[in-house]
Amino acid sequence: RDPLLDPAAPDAVPDDRALRPQVLDEFIGQAEARANLRVFIESARRRGEAMDHVLFHGPPGLGKTTLAQIMARELGVGFRMTSGPVLAKAGDLAAILTNLEARDVLFIDEIHRLNPAVEEVLYPALEDFALDLVIGEGPAARTVRIDLQPFTLVGATTRLGLLTTPLRDRFGIPTRLQFYTVPELHQIVTRGARLMGAPASEEGAQEIARRARGTPRIAGRLLRRVVDFAVVEGDGQVTRAIADNALTRLGVDHLGLDGADRRYLGLMAENYGGGPVGIETLAAALSESRDALEEVIEPFLLQQGLIARTPRGRMLAQKGWAHLGLDAPRREGDLF
Ligand code: ADP
Repeated sequence: RDPLLDPAAPDAVPDDRALRPQVLDEFIGQAEARANLRVFIESARRRGEAMDHVLFHGPPGLGKTTLAQIMARELGVGFRMTSGPVLAKAGDLAAILTNLEARDVLFIDEIHRLNPAVEEVLYPALEDFALDLVIGEGPAARTVRIDLQPFTLVGATTRLGLLTTPLRDRFGIPTRLQFYTVPELHQIVTRGARLMGAPASEEGAQEIARRARGTPRIAGRLLRRVVDFAVVEGDGQVTRAIADNALTRLGVDHLGLDGADRRYLGLMAENYGGGPVGIETLAAALSESRDALEEVIEPFLLQQGLIARTPRGRMLAQKGWAHLGLDAPRREGDLF
């Protein structure tokens, strides 16, 4: 998949930090989540307590990490960041937990990928701010409880369904992040362009916003590439013509779909008559992992109504056929 459009691919660019909103007021979109967080942050501050544990879930690149950092800043506490796959052993997590200061925010990305032994350590930590250490072996083994500073865990996951129920139940504040609307992305692009010193016209920002797959991370990446074209081939301003030309050359179509998305839709149309077709079959035919399809490609295609999920597999929706410039075949059961 084209790393430019893969919301799961890490940002290699150093100036990303400059574009990242630092406080809740600078954070655009996710109005509901933001309004709720504002109340919980304020309440925790006034009571002088650690804020309750928060679980952010939703597709990659929507601002989970950014919100966790903002929370720590607004709470006036320290921020520690790690991820499910990095915590290989129970001791790795124990080391982090025992180093936290009172009310700190600990961010665990990809929390659905925690190893079960590590997850066990987390339960008493979340519930009682305690660590249960087993000392000795066999019949002589006993458990010693160590107290931890109260802290706030912020978990992030792209796959809520893969979280175990006991872990899910320990988050007081589960929050789903949504794809951004075009007007929200428009604001994000305009702000980003200003910060990069390459002002965007109304239509220039609109062109990028429309093609960013509802995802700020992609909007930021597309913007950086468009700014390159604006600097070299224009006068440094992000205009509609520059943006359209740059994005078309990069293979991003007017819905924001890239080659991988179009291959997915094309395969369904041409090889499977529009489905239903199973996810494993699609993954094998596209040489992509099932996870990549489910976490990265499909959420936006589903949200746009280009495909549908049915009990018998994926189907190409009317809008998907139209986007490919093809007519949907008539099916048995159609009324005409
Ligand atoms: P996630 O953790 O959900 O994968 P991140 O928090 O890393 O997403 O955000 C991805 C990128 O998008 C970052 O560069 C961040 O600066 C930018 N971003 C996310 N949300 C917003 C927003 N609401 N406004 C502006 N930029 C945002």
